[in-house]
Amino acid sequence: MVHSWIRQRWSQLLANTRWNSPWNSPWNSPSVRGLRSSLLLLPLLLCACHLVQPSQQEEYRYSGGAFQFRFTILHRMVGSDGILWRMDPTNCPFDLHKAEQVIESALARWNVPGACSFRRAQQGETATLTIGWRGKNHGRSCVSFGISAEMLAHIAAAPESGDDTPWSIHLNTNLDWTLGKPTSKPTSEPTPAARGLRAIRRIEPQLEKVIVHEAGHILGLGHVPLKSSVMHPVHPEARATPGDLDLDGIHSLYGSAAAAASDDLEICCVDPQGKAHRAAPTIRGVAPAGRVRVHLFDIDDDGKDEMLLLGVGRPTDGSGLLVLDFGSGAVLERTTGPFPGLLGGNLPLAVGCVSNGDRVLAQQPNRPQGGYHAVVFLGQTRQLRALSAGEKWFPLVGGGGDEDGDGELDQEIVGVVEEGLADLDGDGIDELVRRGPADPQP
Ligand SMILES: [Zn+2]
Ligand SMILES: [Zn+2]
Repeated sequence: MVHSWIRQRWSQLLANTRWNSPWNSPWNSPSVRGLRSSLLLLPLLLCACHLVQPSQQEEYRYSGGAFQFRFTILHRMVGSDGILWRMDPTNCPFDLHKAEQVIESALARWNVPGACSFRRAQQGETATLTIGWRGKNHGRSCVSFGISAEMLAHIAAAPESGDDTPWSIHLNTNLDWTLGKPTSKPTSEPTPAARGLRAIRRIEPQLEKVIVHEAGHILGLGHVPLKSSVMHPVHPEARATPGDLDLDGIHSLYGSAAAAASDDLEICCVDPQGKAHRAAPTIRGVAPAGRVRVHLFDIDDDGKDEMLLLGVGRPTDGSGLLVLDFGSGAVLERTTGPFPGLLGGNLPLAVGCVSNGDRVLAQQPNRPQGGYHAVVFLGQTRQLRALSAGEKWFPLVGGGGDEDGDGELDQEIVGVVEEGLADLDGDGIDELVRRGPADPQP
């Protein structure tokens, strides 16, 4: 649970793969059908919800920049409402009282009624979160800040943190911290460097803004490359106060009473009369119709279904494939990705597996030379790799398969259904996943 401020570029992961980009291909989708829309399920779906079968050929022609996901999730915090924190005064570069006030006001920006909040631990109370300044190499097991000035802070969990609270925010003591707003003098000036050495920009992190960002991590939010988020990985680029994107992440994790809108995904249980009831926090702002496809299947072979969101259109930073994992009670627990540019939501998707059970995601661009492109989701590391030349795979859902590894599909890819029923928590009972209505009731 640590991070650096260095921007992660998933798009470089498989930069030189052997296939053509699917979004260059003309639209070529047959009507999308898969295993889940069996005759048994269909009547239930029709009566349980207002699923509109989209005219997908119309909806998925979108060719602009792919949807940038508004949040990513590292973990779900138990007891997110009323997190008790304390400041460790060791090495604090400021007047202790002032520093505590700034931290308190930063954490207050995360007070979201019914979802999350922070409170300073009083004498005798057991804190959950320690906030303190640490040197380059602090303790045996916590991540080192090293010699680079790029890493301003990180979060850590006990026992690696070396603190006696379950969670910690460690601030790099080697930097010139400021309490709040940037000073009028320039905050970055090139440091004279010896010939051949790269000049390191001088960084004066603002305590208040860094605490807002790190507290977002404590609450479970990961980085997003969007300047309208406090979770932008680059300090000067990030927003100073949680905005709509960040709150969508918080509400997706910890709930909200607001009705679901059309970009949201409701998670319902279906009663014996076929009526759907909200069963878990609605996933907010992730699936605008026509821009993001919503697939439901078990991508990591853990016995639970995951949500796979796949953006339509030209790849952009923070778009592509996002995998959502759920825990007991079908509550969101983490996301993997997004992986931009590897699969395109404008093409139907087939799911299969290679010999060790890892899942294959395959698509068939409409191109004269034939063939297909495919990636393998590594269940252990949650990374994607390219399907190797000659590698065999077996179809599970949506057609496809290449059981002789000749680079040609054994069956046409017809696609996996969107939305519908899925066992997100692995309890043997399906949840219903659906978009909110286009005109939500007040
Ligand atoms: Zn640390
Ligand atoms: Zn961060």
